[in-house]
Amino acid sequence: MSKGDNILDVKNIKMDFPSKGVTVHAVGDVSFKVNEGETMGIVGESGCGKTTLGRCIVRAYEPTAGQVMYTTSEGELIDFLKIDKKTMKEYRKEIQMIFQDPYSSLDPRMTVLDIIKEPLLANYPHMPKEEMERKVMDIAAKVGLNTAYLKRYPHAFSGGQRQRIGIARALVLNPRIIVCDEAVSALDVSIQAQVINLLHDLQKEFDLTFLFISHDLSVVEYISDRVGVMYLGKMVEFAPTKKLFSHPMHPYTESLLSAVPVADPAKQMERIPLEGEIPNPANPPSGCYFHTRCRYCTQRCEKEAPEYVEAEPEHYVACHRAKELALKGFSYDE
Ligand code: SF4
Repeated sequence: MSKGDNILDVKNIKMDFPSKGVTVHAVGDVSFKVNEGETMGIVGESGCGKTTLGRCIVRAYEPTAGQVMYTTSEGELIDFLKIDKKTMKEYRKEIQMIFQDPYSSLDPRMTVLDIIKEPLLANYPHMPKEEMERKVMDIAAKVGLNTAYLKRYPHAFSGGQRQRIGIARALVLNPRIIVCDEAVSALDVSIQAQVINLLHDLQKEFDLTFLFISHDLSVVEYISDRVGVMYLGKMVEFAPTKKLFSHPMHPYTESLLSAVPVADPAKQMERIPLEGEIPNPANPPSGCYFHTRCRYCTQRCEKEAPEYVEAEPEHYVACHRAKELALKGFSYDE
């Protein structure tokens, strides 16, 4: 398998949760492919299903339906959602997750050394202690932690350092794919930039593939090769990053882009406000799910759900009017 080959083929993932006597359709029939070595961004407002989707992919949740076809390092194709627990343990090492909140995702009663070492202990119980600690030291140094402080507890570290601990813990098993769930959202902007640059460097050094889930479009634009936009549990647009940001084809993407702050006020797009709240996924609107908030809505949109199609090469969209609307995106001209 070489760089750029398909490593993950996510097919028709659905995730329903029972809640107070109704069924919440958190993720509805989402499909996409991820190439080895790329960063794929997934964006959308909170509640759009992007975090649930990430958790389905690493099998932290058991999806209601769908497949996650994973090409192993030996080139074998397996359905990550169908394998038994023993096989799962084998491949779980290769697909890791970094969580949103560096404050609550680390056990406060464990030293940082033990936190980073824990996945090694669980997966390689017979590894000699010295080798284990050497691996922890190596990875801690790679993520920019001071190895003299690893016997301390998480509360002694800043938010940015705690996220580095989370990254080290994910990396220590030598994974191939990392799902980053809002991995920098809780951090100050300057620390965010440091952690993003670190992820970028680690990606190059360890040939990592990232699935980068975030509500922050400017972060996703910076780090991703391709981007998917989710709305109410569905993928509504998907394209290479520059294409999606400069030439959006879905009105929801256009609205999200218009709200992104840019350094040069002359380049700021006219704000296209999203009216109303995101609808209840237990009771989604008829037709196009976005029609209740869309400024381009027609009668057809209220009745008929648009198909998700490849409207242009590598550019997928679910909107009846995708080809006729001239939506505004970012200007990349210098
Ligand atoms: Fe808007 Fe209609 Fe397109 Fe939905 S299908 S995004 S309502 S124009």
